[in-house]
Amino acid sequence: MDTVKQIATLEADILNRLRHWKRYSTIDVPGTSTGNSDKETMEWKACDAMKKELAMSRARETNRDFETTIMEVQWEVAIELGRILAETIDPAIAGTEDVTIEEEDGEACGICLEDLKKGEVVRAMGVCGHKFHCHCIMKWVKRKQNCPLCRCALKPKKYVF
Ligand SMILES: [Zn+2]
Ligand SMILES: [Zn+2]
Repeated sequence: MDTVKQIATLEADILNRLRHWKRYSTIDVPGTSTGNSDKETMEWKACDAMKKELAMSRARETNRDFETTIMEVQWEVAIELGRILAETIDPAIAGTEDVTIEEEDGEACGICLEDLKKGEVVRAMGVCGHKFHCHCIMKWVKRKQNCPLCRCALKPKKYVF
């Protein structure tokens, strides 16, 4: 894999983790609402360092100045990143939506069958409205692109990143 692709792949991975942080992280950091994204910050900095390194070697090889090659590298990574993210839009995000449980009415997660609690934010299927815990439906849609209860298709809507 060339370096541009490699950097873009790392960045896409970091962005995906951050985007799903609160909902899908299994790690709970007490006292914080956003979780601990130190790891992601470190990795993002590492990506920046890789870009600089690539730009420096390009500058040396082609006898251009760093200002020009760093712009070029950043641009190429951005294009590649866009391409990767477009392809990796998570179907669980695209085909389901956040729903806050207003009232406990004995409705259960269709996968683990645990009751959905008041105030809990769950994911509802865009088409049929069946509700599931985020982590439950995430696991499911990785394997099947339909509703576990009624089998209607998971229809991705356009996701704006
Ligand atoms: Zn569940
Ligand atoms: Zn359904």
